[in-house]
Amino acid sequence: MRSPDSWVVVGLDNGATSNNATVLDASGRFLVDRLVETPSLVQEGPDVAVEALVQALDHILEQTGTARTSVRALGLDTPGPASADGVISSKGATNFSQPAWHGFDVRGALEDRLELPVVYNNDANAAALYAHHVHFGPDAGSYSSISAVVGTGLGGGVIEAGRVVRGAAGMAGELGHVHIPMQGLLDEGQPLPTCNCGFAGDAESVASLTGIERNLLPYWLTRFDGHELGRVQPVAEAAKLVRDYGERGDPLALRIFEQQAMALGRLFTIAANFIDPSTYFLGGGLSRRRRTSATGSRPRCVSTRHCVRNRRP
Ligand SMILES: [Zn+2]
Repeated sequence: MRSPDSWVVVGLDNGATSNNATVLDASGRFLVDRLVETPSLVQEGPDVAVEALVQALDHILEQTGTARTSVRALGLDTPGPASADGVISSKGATNFSQPAWHGFDVRGALEDRLELPVVYNNDANAAALYAHHVHFGPDAGSYSSISAVVGTGLGGGVIEAGRVVRGAAGMAGELGHVHIPMQGLLDEGQPLPTCNCGFAGDAESVASLTGIERNLLPYWLTRFDGHELGRVQPVAEAAKLVRDYGERGDPLALRIFEQQAMALGRLFTIAANFIDPSTYFLGGGLSRRRRTSATGSRPRCVSTRHCVRNRRP
């Protein structure tokens, strides 16, 4: 038996502009307590980006004084859509717009390059897994959870008995594209919100930054004539300011967040009827600074990128 400190696993989180890396020893201890970022270079195509992942690995090993020979395996996450095994969607993805990415097996490419086992999850599932294990600790294998991550879109993850439910095609936990009831959520005369995916009335069409930009802000500006945000162009920039307005109690922003909260509540109700998880987590950029919640509990930041809060202890 090798001693627990004789080998490590490395986690690589791939994003639009940066890779973030960490190291975990065999006893489950993180050797890094901060963001360690290097450029991800995803816009330059898969060959350059895979080399950037290798550089992220070498950089974190150097930072932690760890030899490459001590690395037993890597965990990789990227934004989706991708297959359960890390093949980027053949139809492309927001982060992987270059045609060479379409259908590219990023997990397999990194594994071949490093000659080390690479385990893949999409970033929302990785965040869900992390929240679950931090919250439940050694008992993680005995519980289930659902995570919703509200950001540009609405990502999610389903954890059962401590493991990610990936689904046959990697689509499990795509909570953003679940249809939710709109009756009683929409204002009278408010158009049915639409989503990038082609659906109308799904969770992401309301509970995401894109939903604010595309649906909620344009509508509510018609009901708050002369509001300052109507003069901010383009509307994408105005959408990003809604959170700050909400923190200051702005009535328009509060109507938007009220609708988002209702959408998330309805989404979790559907989740309850499907799998009845032990716990619900809510996180992401949109929720990060909302410190005054209905329950009065403070958000619990359990991940470097995703701030996750337990909604039903
Ligand atoms: Zn959708």
